Amino acid sequence: RKRLSVRGVTHSYGGQNAVSDISFDVEAGEIVALLGPSGCGKSTVLRAIAGLIQPKAGKIILGDDDLAHISARSRGIGMVFQNYALFPHLTVSENIAYPLACQKVPRVERKARVEEMLALVRLDGYGNRLPRELSGGQQQRVAVARAIAARPSLLLLDEPFGALDRALRFDLQVELLHLQKTLGITTLIVTHDQEEAQSLANRLVLMNKGNVEQIDTPMAVYDRP
Ligand code: ADP
Ligand code: ADP
Repeated sequence: RKRLSVRGVTHSYGGQNAVSDISFDVEAGEIVALLGPSGCGKSTVLRAIAGLIQPKAGKIILGDDDLAHISARSRGIGMVFQNYALFPHLTVSENIAYPLACQKVPRVERKARVEEMLALVRLDGYGNRLPRELSGGQQQRVAVARAIAARPSLLLLDEPFGALDRALRFDLQVELLHLQKTLGITTLIVTHDQEEAQSLANRLVLMNKGNVEQIDTPMAVYDRP
């Protein structure tokens, strides 16, 4: 379990800043939701943490490490995107094993870990299927299993359930809370869905137009008289 600290992160894609002086922490084992309207800079913050873009200014610290010195693939970060990019030609088990193979986890342990992950997301028995043989919700559970298979110290979720209908979204939220209780991975979830943020997160970081406007618990943000 590691603490994530985002300090003064600023980024532009060329013209004016997409995000300016963004600062917040995610305590070890905590779920924080990054919430705000489309275009406010949520994905940009996530990309900077994941190492997909290099911020113009600021620091991102994970545990004791300044991520500026650590490549994207060595950061120990699991990611889930809205358009769950499962490898279509690989089975569910192979998809989940992929990051483990990259980390050179031995074959026997890899197999055990895949079974453990399948059970965790309640897809026992689905290991030999191809992604296209699963429903959207099941595919997204595979994406979550793949993201946590290598035991990341940080989990980043970018609108993970946005493409799903309401009932499935609720199922997966319950699933995620269950995982969080079991594994306690430090988690940052990007969403524009207030209800989702409220039901999942310990704390909210509210963004608007590239800035952080408020950081507080869901209760303090929404239940004020
Ligand atoms: P959000 O995730 O909150 O919808 P983004 O981080 O995607 O916001 O975008 C923040 C701002 O940066 C927006 O104005 C968006 O148009 C701009 N932006 C995002 N990605 C790019 C890109 N690849 N090139 C240029 N501008 C971008
Ligand atoms: P989201 O809001 O879910 O982050 P968007 O629909 O804003 O996604 O953006 C989808 C893709 O388009 C992203 O890869 C982003 O980098 C890119 N993008 C967003 N805004 C711009 C922009 N103004 N110019 C170029 N690319 C952009």
